[in-house]
Amino acid sequence: MPVLPGALRRVRRRPGLLGALLALLALAWLALTVSRGLEKPADWHRVLLLTAHPDDEVMFFAPVVHALSSRTEVFGLCLSEGNADGLGAVRREELKQAYSVLGVDEKRVWSTDDPHLQDGMKVQWDPLYIANIVEQHIQRIGGKLDAIITFDARGVSGHANHVALHAAAPHLSAPVYALRTLPLALKYLGLPSALLRHLSSTLAQDGARRFLSSPLEYVRTLLAMRKHASQLVWFRYLYVLASAHMWSAVLDLVARPMPQ
Ligand SMILES: [Zn+2]
Repeated sequence: MPVLPGALRRVRRRPGLLGALLALLALAWLALTVSRGLEKPADWHRVLLLTAHPDDEVMFFAPVVHALSSRTEVFGLCLSEGNADGLGAVRREELKQAYSVLGVDEKRVWSTDDPHLQDGMKVQWDPLYIANIVEQHIQRIGGKLDAIITFDARGVSGHANHVALHAAAPHLSAPVYALRTLPLALKYLGLPSALLRHLSSTLAQDGARRFLSSPLEYVRTLLAMRKHASQLVWFRYLYVLASAHMWSAVLDLVARPMPQ
């Protein structure tokens, strides 16, 4: 017989559970209301999202892209095609389609297939080489950027290619903002963890830029992830459902170029 009426009966028998659910929803609503009005950086007009592999832009940066894509010129540069399993050509197309779902025109999205920047946990990327490639790209897209957004020193997952992007930050010609990696204990607690981090960063007034997806934007994140069909193995479904990084992002300024 229908599952839903049974679940509703269980909730009715446990008013404490219903109250907790309502409180959580109210908290989410409050956080969203505060964040959406105050957190979008009005001073960013041209921004480059620098990633290592197709799917990074969804799994880690989607809350940022949602917030920026409607009012900021967002460019995507992915320094590999994620060819560790020989799927580079497929993943290159998936990258463009996923960005498109996130609201970024695929004409502003590039990936590279450079022999020095191949996908792999054990492949070390040279920060100066990365900086050179990124600077060439910045010139190609018209020069001056207000921000480059990339990983922090822990790279969210600790992947060596993510960490290498952060190491290139001091050598870049625009202010670099890094995605703050959540501690492992909080990373996979989904929306409650995302809300907690967002609110604690807000209360701390730590100078960070905070982004929190609305429920509708989260649905778009899931739709964008579906474009990465080649990557949707069982454990990635678990990540998508559990990771707080799918809901929220906190960016810290980690490098500012020296005045010329
Ligand atoms: Zn990656």
